[in-house]
Amino acid sequence: MEKCSCTAPISKSSNLSRALYNQNGKIPLSEPLIQGNEWKYIKECLDTNWVSSSGHYVNHFEKIFAGYLGIKYAVACINGTAALHIALLVAGVKPEEEVLIPALSFVAPANAIRYVRAWPVFMDVDPLTWQMDPQRVQEFLKDHTRYHRGRLINKITGKVIKAILPIHILGHSVDMDPILSIARKYNLKVIEDATESLGALYKGRPVGSLGDIACFSFNGNKIITTGGGGMITTNNSLWAERARYLTTQAKDDSVESIHNEIGYNYRLSNIQAAMGVAQMEKLKEYIEFKRKIAIRYNEKFNTLPLMLPKEASWAKSTFWLYTVVLNTKNKKMNRQFLWKELSKNGIESRPLWYPTYRLKPYRDCFSYKISIVDSLYEKALSLPGSVGLTRIQQDRVIRLVKEIMGHYL
Ligand SMILES: *Cc1c(COP(=O)(O)O)cnc(C)c1O
Repeated sequence: MEKCSCTAPISKSSNLSRALYNQNGKIPLSEPLIQGNEWKYIKECLDTNWVSSSGHYVNHFEKIFAGYLGIKYAVACINGTAALHIALLVAGVKPEEEVLIPALSFVAPANAIRYVRAWPVFMDVDPLTWQMDPQRVQEFLKDHTRYHRGRLINKITGKVIKAILPIHILGHSVDMDPILSIARKYNLKVIEDATESLGALYKGRPVGSLGDIACFSFNGNKIITTGGGGMITTNNSLWAERARYLTTQAKDDSVESIHNEIGYNYRLSNIQAAMGVAQMEKLKEYIEFKRKIAIRYNEKFNTLPLMLPKEASWAKSTFWLYTVVLNTKNKKMNRQFLWKELSKNGIESRPLWYPTYRLKPYRDCFSYKISIVDSLYEKALSLPGSVGLTRIQQDRVIRLVKEIMGHYL
């Protein structure tokens, strides 16, 4: 991670310290770019003493975020995981109920399902887009559920199925129309995890505006960052109100300290929101930049035995993490080897997440016919694609990947 240069008051000098810091030649997988109005807006918070969870930047951040997505309500909170926790509560997911999620993702959404004491049901992903496979969801619901007193029951576990939680991974969107029509048919709520795909489009519409409620993250490795932060988005005014209530300690009367429910201290601070506002000003530029890197990598790598990231016909991807799948015949040339060799040369790369359904807390949960997830996990590697990645750094990544793989074709 990048060290902070506390002596640098304006972005020019922070550029300089950044360049000095990077002189050791390491290229990180995904680092933020902080070169806009962040210093100015945060300084305003510090100068005016509005540093905590009240202050105009929080409201302003929510407003521009909702505007960007074309959605009615956005509720800022401390991180993406907290956003998921609240979204599940607001959607009415109860203890012992089940939520369908893809098995290829960061662990946070599965954890959030456990926070409300519900259970994840793990589904496979589509081999081309690597996103939750709607056909499998359909097949599972058709073959293995029944209704009991108006509730949908998983015939295998006996539990009530309440919601589907599609996760738009790596900057690409899930095929949402079939998911939404399945959800309508079976009366399930749809909670989108859009934490990795801010700015991605599905049939021209932004992800995070498609389901009943959605979640975003502004962690340091995401396309925009507030240090840590999250957002809940929905068109449902009651749900938005409830999300705001639960993230702010469930205050029924702030003067008298009346709380009629157990709430959470999940509200984003004004300082973080100030950073979010500055980062949102750059989002369009960042997306264009990431798409350019992906196009360039795809051109340069197309002679190698790699499955390169593509966009489905209905998607516009941000290529948040540029990820390739190794299709090499030579056994030595596997993703582990490429990963180690790149690392020896100061280039950070990373496999996809260990399949969630095999993790210790989730091994005993129900999973449905998973195969693609494991083969992707075995063979996939994400390469550096930060919004600040210079042409020279890109060239170094390209040259090294070609050199390392070239030896073992
Ligand atoms: C990053 C991420 C989250 C969690 O976001 P945080 O802000 O780090 O809590 C949730 N889901 C997925 C798929 C993520 O990649």
